[in-house]
Order: sequence, then C-alpha cells, then structure tokens
Amino acid sequence: MKMPPVLFGILAFIVLIMKDTIVAMAQPVGILIAVIFGVLVLYQVYSFSYFSGEKFKKLKKSIEEYTKNCNELNHHIQELKNAYVDVTSQDYGHSTLQDGSNYNFKRTEWNKSIKNNYVHNCSLSVCKNANDQPFKYLCKYFDIKANEEALSNFEAVLNDFAAAEQGKLLVKAERDLIITNLKTSIPSLIFSFSKKRLIKELGFEEIDLSDLYFPIYTFQYVSAGGNSSSKCDIKMDVNNLDRFIDYLSSLIKFRNSVAGQRALMTSRLRESIKERDNHTCRTCGISAHNEKHLLLEIDHIIPLSKGGITSENNLQTLCWKCNRSKGSKLV
Ligand SMILES: [Zn+2]
Repeated sequence: MKMPPVLFGILAFIVLIMKDTIVAMAQPVGILIAVIFGVLVLYQVYSFSYFSGEKFKKLKKSIEEYTKNCNELNHHIQELKNAYVDVTSQDYGHSTLQDGSNYNFKRTEWNKSIKNNYVHNCSLSVCKNANDQPFKYLCKYFDIKANEEALSNFEAVLNDFAAAEQGKLLVKAERDLIITNLKTSIPSLIFSFSKKRLIKELGFEEIDLSDLYFPIYTFQYVSAGGNSSSKCDIKMDVNNLDRFIDYLSSLIKFRNSVAGQRALMTSRLRESIKERDNHTCRTCGISAHNEKHLLLEIDHIIPLSKGGITSENNLQTLCWKCNRSKGSKLV
C-alpha cells in the first residue's frame, strides 16, 4: 500500500512535536517491563529450587502410597474406557475407494469421516429418519442384531463406562483432597501460582475428564456435488446406552421370553445392588462410608461366560481392586 505524501507529512509532523512525550513515556514503560521480567525470572528460580529441594522430596515421599493409588485407579479407568473395542471387534477387511470423477467436487465432509469407524453415508431421508428414531436406524444400518449376545455386550459396556464416569470424578476428588491436606506444608506462593506443576511434581498423572471416549455413530448425507450436507450423530454415552439396552431388550422380549427371565443391567439396577450391599465390597469389606472416594463396581458372581445370568442374587458389589483381581484370575 502506498501512503499519500500529504498523510506522510502529517504523520511526520505529529511525531516531531510529540517526540519528547514519546521518549518520556517510553522510559517508565521500559522500567515496568524490566521489573515484571525480573520478578518472573526470580519466581522461576525460586520454584525450581523448591521443587528440587530436599524438603519437597520428603513431602513427595510421604504421600507416595496415595499417589500410587490414584495413578493405579487412573489407569484402571482408562482401561474401562476401552470396553467398547470388544463389542465392535468384527473385522470386515480393508479396502480403498478412489473417486475417479472428472470434476473437482468439494466433498470435504466425506474426507472428515475417514478416521471414524462408525459413519454411514446415506440419503438425506435416511439421515433425517435416523434423527427421529436413532436406535431403530442404528440397529438397521450398523448391523446390530437384537439378540441376547448383543444385549449382554452392551450391558457390559454400560457397566464399564458407568464405572469409568464415576471413577474419574472420584479419583480427581481424592487427588484434590490429598493436595488440600498438604496446603500447610507447601509455601503459599507455590500453592497459589504453580498448582498444576505441583500436582505433576508430586507424581500425580493427568486425569482425563473428557468424555471423548464414548462411541459416536454418524449418519451422513453429502450431495453429489458435495456442496450440501447433513449429519446426525448418535453418541453412546451412559444415558443413551441405558436407553439402548431397554430398547434392545424390548425387541428381544417381543420374539421370545429369554430376556424376560433376567434383570436388565441398567444404571438403576447397579445402584440398587450397591444400596443392598451397603456400599461395601463383598470381598475385602472396604466401605464407601469409610473411604469417601471409593470406586465400587458391580460384578457377576458366576460370570456370564460361565453361564451366570444377570439376576439380583448373581450380582455383588466389589471395590475396583477386588473386581480387577477377580477378572484377571478368571483369564
Ligand atoms: Zn475389595
């Protein structure tokens, strides 16, 4: 851009008459920046020497057991989040689709879906109908059969996802409680300004609070030219899984009475079993009344794989550690 000479002249004139003011203002601003910079550097040095000092190492050592426990629970939760992988493990093979059309269509929506396993490209009307009756279209287009096996699989996923959702809040609460209890032993500057670093330096691993692990089924319409598109997402979170289990069971009941003989492993049933067992692990006796942030899970006493069914007398409350060690013994 070319500046007109008149404008340039005016600007030069302003700078000339304001020269002294600009210089006068620059000085205190420079000093202020230097002071802020100096304080920041000093704080870095201070926090570095605190975190590498003996006192902090001792403090870290004193809570070692708690940090280890929190991290173990955190790993357990991350594993629970993978529950869905088993349900959809069928391998349909691999192929490559090439678009050989002569025109440079803008089908950007199609490219977006490559990384997502659960996308169905369909007509606009299917997309709209899926939005009206999500579960019906989910079964139809993603090949989910309304049978006892699928129902059990989804119940197991719901059981694990519900534990993961509860667990991540409990582990965060437990970690925060430990940190709060340390408050008096930690310099208030560090506690107020370096909380995140403090948590990390104490050895706590990051807790992932996002719910991005819930599978999402997508119905997607993209017009031939790629200029118009429409999308319907069905997110299988705890609430939707609960409802989906009811839906599947109603379809099965309609055909035969197998599902009618057993209870449905819904959130409601899980809570009622915990209530019945007084929120206490039936193996080791640890109770949520004594350990505020204890993760309790629901276990099939005789596993489904060994012919056990979902009925109140085949279900029990276990703490996550006992449930985990029971699971590994069975394998
Ligand atoms: Zn236990």
